[in-house]
Amino acid sequence: MEKIMIVTGGSRGIGAATAYLAAERGYAVCVNYRRDRSSAMKIVEKIEGEGGRAIAVAADVSSEKDVLALFKATDEQLGMVTVLVNNAGILEQQMRLENMAADRLQRIFAVNITGAFLCAREAIKRMSAKHGGMGGAIVNVSSIASRLGSPGEYIDYAASKGAIDTLTMGLAKEVAAEGIRVNAVRPGFIDTDIHASGGEPDRLDRIKASIPMKRGGEAIEVARGILWLASDEASYTTGSLVEIAGGR
Ligand code: NAP
Repeated sequence: MEKIMIVTGGSRGIGAATAYLAAERGYAVCVNYRRDRSSAMKIVEKIEGEGGRAIAVAADVSSEKDVLALFKATDEQLGMVTVLVNNAGILEQQMRLENMAADRLQRIFAVNITGAFLCAREAIKRMSAKHGGMGGAIVNVSSIASRLGSPGEYIDYAASKGAIDTLTMGLAKEVAAEGIRVNAVRPGFIDTDIHASGGEPDRLDRIKASIPMKRGGEAIEVARGILWLASDEASYTTGSLVEIAGGR
């Protein structure tokens, strides 16, 4: 069976590293992005340049219409998805809860929670033996923020990752007998652009002394965990939350 992976938010950071590593391991990859087409195209061109198969598809995962179009484009251009990596995620300016506006909370929850639910729903319709599918795997990108809580920075973001953990555990049980495994990685502090969205691009420099391994992680180190959970090597692993956080 051909291996076909959708990586949401695959244009930069952890998603881009995952898309590229997946292609190296024989997947045809749909690189989803929201706005940054040139970064998504760079990943696609790099994969194609090495003989792989990839497409870039713009879709805001918080929009049901966009998610339907994302899966349709993958069906038509690559084939039936076998692995979904629910990676797209956002955070906003660091602040205390009492300063958070309602529309900010809605944006964070819409992308980080609703987006992951909608994509998982579409993947299951295609993968589940109940619907005539051949099975598959879903890997959600959570965060250790779900257990640390991100006080003073972004409790909203941390809570959205708590929802991802619960989605992972519940859905894993719901579809385990239908040939689908559902797991999550919980990265720690990884060197990507996301920290700049919180207003602190050098956040890792401040935090690294508190990490037992004394450094932030690289996107590729998370990608390797995602690819393991996606693979048959993890055939008896479902409902797991795998920490990739240097011991923090
Ligand atoms: P990043 O470098 O900021 O990249 C985010 C990616 O998500 C981009 O490809 C972006 O596309 C895409 N994206 C954002 N909103 C989207 C939407 N509404 N629909 C579709 N795509 C969207 O982030 P990252 O650090 O790699 O984070 C990836 C995941 O890892 C997130 O879920 C994050 O919460 C999680 N995580 C990160 C860390 C860390 O320390 N970096 C730690 C724990 C967990 P555009 O460029 O087109 O907007």
